[in-house]
Amino acid sequence: MTDRTIAEPTRLVETLTSLAKRRGFIFQSSEIYGGVNAIYDFGPLGVALRRNIRDLWWRHVVELRHDVVGLESGIIMHPRVWEASGHVQSFTDPLVECKSCHQRWRADHLAAEDGANPTCPNCGSREFSEERQFNLMFKTHLGPVEDSGAEVFLRPETAQGMFVQFQNVLNSTRKRVPFGIAQQGKAYRNEISPGNYIFRLREFELQELEFFVKPGTDDDWFDHWKAERMRWWTDVLGVRAARLRFRPHGEDELAHYAKGAVDIEYEYPFGWSELEGIANRTDYDLSRHIEYSGRDLSFFDEETKERYVPYVIEPAMGIDRCMFTVMLDAYDEEEVRGEKRALLRFHPNVAPVQVAVLPLSKNEKLLPTSREVEEMLRPHFRIEYDETQSIGRRYRRHDEIGTPFAVTIDFDTLEDRAVTIRERDSMAQERVPIAELEGALSKRLHDAGGSTL
Ligand code: ATP
Repeated sequence: MTDRTIAEPTRLVETLTSLAKRRGFIFQSSEIYGGVNAIYDFGPLGVALRRNIRDLWWRHVVELRHDVVGLESGIIMHPRVWEASGHVQSFTDPLVECKSCHQRWRADHLAAEDGANPTCPNCGSREFSEERQFNLMFKTHLGPVEDSGAEVFLRPETAQGMFVQFQNVLNSTRKRVPFGIAQQGKAYRNEISPGNYIFRLREFELQELEFFVKPGTDDDWFDHWKAERMRWWTDVLGVRAARLRFRPHGEDELAHYAKGAVDIEYEYPFGWSELEGIANRTDYDLSRHIEYSGRDLSFFDEETKERYVPYVIEPAMGIDRCMFTVMLDAYDEEEVRGEKRALLRFHPNVAPVQVAVLPLSKNEKLLPTSREVEEMLRPHFRIEYDETQSIGRRYRRHDEIGTPFAVTIDFDTLEDRAVTIRERDSMAQERVPIAELEGALSKRLHDAGGSTL
């Protein structure tokens, strides 16, 4: 991979935003009504990309391990859950209001220079209201009566589902500590200052693992998950290692229940920021649910005859931020024969389309063989068949949506039963007999670090 050739950071996000809309990755929610702040919809290619990421997470965190099982819990849970978890009391961010333009900001996000008051990013004023704590949970009512007894929350994280179902999972599986419960699903946070495109949203999707361990073994498991997760980002998704780093939390930013926490950070155009969090949550959550529910959520180890409340190591990432990162990391521009070529150098594991099947033109003579090639490849790869526009424009489109390989059927194909494979990154072309095409593409995808479907 070449290094990114475009320098200006804001232009990069703007360019990507425009590409994402034009090509059908990301749309503003309810755009025809003016949009909803910090909520986005995902178009056909966005859905494909997210599905690939989701499946790769599930494959590596659950299916390829003997010690992790899955769960899907409701977005709305019993309100006591959020009292026990501490969210009602302290899932808050410090809020200030600009006295001049009345925009509200997250106080810890406002940049202050050496002792001076921070400036309002909207109007430049330095006068703000007193800081107050703002709870980020969305409230709604369950059932037809809108009184406080019916008040419930949209979950701000999926983790609590794993804690409150801990005993049911233990009883219904053969799992014994150490083991983990994984879940992916929507979460909601009424963020005060969302932004940076899909980096900070109010509706987003989390992938969380709660890995239960015996106290005393937690430091080793923490290190295990740090290494596993970093490996996933680099080897499975193909994100450049040079743009990733660990950032351990300082004592002052650790959640009160956490023994240790580290962020995996990515170097975004707007600076290094959190991509995934890994925390040692100790036995805080299970102990709180034991206290609030009166149920026994401890674990009895048959072998050692010990009873204890397990510690929890939690790797948590959001798919929206992941998608943004994968797209930013893959975006590149280069000059080819005096023209700009924009491309997403997606790793073949995440690429929404792995192979484009492109007849040279719409000429009827080419269509039967082109359809035959499409049908032959479709069971093995993520395929798109496209016969519209000139071949040059179709190559450009597939560069921009990150398709690693294109297969072109031309008039010679009708004579020699061979097609051309064009590689996205090098633009190199090679003629391959149709009979060997599937194997040739599988080998190329494999050599590029990917697996097929
Ligand atoms: P912050 O302090 O930045 O508000 P946090 O530390 O509370 O975030 P976590 O609870 O650790 O965030 O969230 C775990 C992961 O979920 C993050 O690393 C990120 O990938 C994702 N995430 C969290 N909040 C959002 C959001 N508002 N929009 C999109 N993704 C999010």
